[in-house]
Amino acid sequence: MTDLTQLTIAEALDGLKQKSFSATDLTRAYLAAMEKGRGLNAYVLETPDKALAMAGASDARIARGEFGPLEGIPLGVKDLFCTAGTRTTACSNILRNFVPTYESTVTSNLWRDGAVMLGKLNNDEFAMGSSNETSCFPGPVNPWRRQGANDTTPLVPGGSSGGSSAAVAAMLCAGATATDTGGSIRQPAALTGTVGIKPTYGRVSRWGIVAFASSLDQAGPIARDVMDAALMLRSFAGPDAKDTTCVDRAVPDYAAAVGKSIKDMTIGIPREYRIDGMPAEIQKLWDDGAQILKEAGANIVEISLPHTKYALPAYYIVAPAEASSNLARYDGVRYGLREPGKDIVDLYEKTRAAGFGKEVRRRIMIGTYVLSAGYYDAYYVRAQQLRTLIKQDFEQAYASGVDAILTPSTPSAAFGIGEKGSADPVEMYLQDVFTVTVNMAGLPGIAVPAGLDNQGLPLGLQLIGRAFDEETLFSVASVIEKAKGRFPVSDRWWG
Ligand code: GLN
Repeated sequence: MTDLTQLTIAEALDGLKQKSFSATDLTRAYLAAMEKGRGLNAYVLETPDKALAMAGASDARIARGEFGPLEGIPLGVKDLFCTAGTRTTACSNILRNFVPTYESTVTSNLWRDGAVMLGKLNNDEFAMGSSNETSCFPGPVNPWRRQGANDTTPLVPGGSSGGSSAAVAAMLCAGATATDTGGSIRQPAALTGTVGIKPTYGRVSRWGIVAFASSLDQAGPIARDVMDAALMLRSFAGPDAKDTTCVDRAVPDYAAAVGKSIKDMTIGIPREYRIDGMPAEIQKLWDDGAQILKEAGANIVEISLPHTKYALPAYYIVAPAEASSNLARYDGVRYGLREPGKDIVDLYEKTRAAGFGKEVRRRIMIGTYVLSAGYYDAYYVRAQQLRTLIKQDFEQAYASGVDAILTPSTPSAAFGIGEKGSADPVEMYLQDVFTVTVNMAGLPGIAVPAGLDNQGLPLGLQLIGRAFDEETLFSVASVIEKAKGRFPVSDRWWG
């Protein structure tokens, strides 16, 4: 039998329907791959017993003639999604032994549709980071290697959803859940040659997902191709009474949008994204992408999003502000870790000092500062005003007839573990320069692999859509995918 882990979700669904193999066979193939791939540190918890039980239940449903939209498909779950009875840590010491009693809406929807849980995936602590080097567990490794002579530097898989991107690229799961507050789905997807979509704010329920910055957080899939991303998003998007920011709107059939003609669509190229020092190969990738869309019948127009340059600084005020408030709940009293103290304040201080890592502490301090009396108007209010202007830039572009906007996903390919950000955190924050605008405006964005750099590493293009128009993103991304092909990691060096 062929290696079942090589099948995409769409192919595996076909095989299961035709009874070429069982859900248990498929799950066993992934469990074996996960064992071989342990050196990648993609999973922080493997749940083989649960996986086999879910696969067995799936086989029983298939035998009865029932077949859910993701029947028998083995998935990995970012460790930010609460899973009932299964440890959920947000990769923070403060939640190291936390076992939720409830299941997030996203994962419940996946299991309702027949999917199988393989385990919990690594991420940056509380999803703060762009390289997955802030996890309290050993960091995940990108399955891609530089093709240079003897260059064996292990590379980051991007962050914060680095376990998700590494596992999907290394075929240690058929697809994975992820979250994106400033780029954490799209940047890791770009750095691993996978597809990731951050849906419109309000498209997917945030209920049961450990909160980072609630007005920016949104869940989405990381998958091997555009079709698989469409199948996963269709399953877990949709209204949810448990999240009041989740919009009451039916979920379209995203799979039907994949491969649809983009003839006569208008694609905007924002001139402000042509940043100083952008590597020539990223500029070329971007130009090639525009050319592909033009050949597919789209009109390419240059547009201006004048407030782009404020997005990153404003994001790094708004996100820490919200994080400092969200993370106040980890006080040693109600959740997770508790370090005894001589009184309640001492207990708070000791618990929080022991439980939070360096980057999380930095964000709490920045957030508390920008929200404090005397600084609130100067920082937080101004950042919120900029956010409105950023949103208006996009609204104007769409009002002028643009259907989607094309940009690079990231300013660089994957970099070496330990290479960036240790001396100056801003160096790491710059990874988000093309992605944060989308969260600030609440819009959907997809990252699709579009080429390799001169060291043989994947690079991605991003498409930004109108609010609630994920379908256009799936259509346009599939045109790029069709022209460029998929980007599987060639040699399986990790197992
Ligand atoms: N890299 C960004 C940050 O550290 C975004 C992270 C995310 O999207 N979760 O805030």
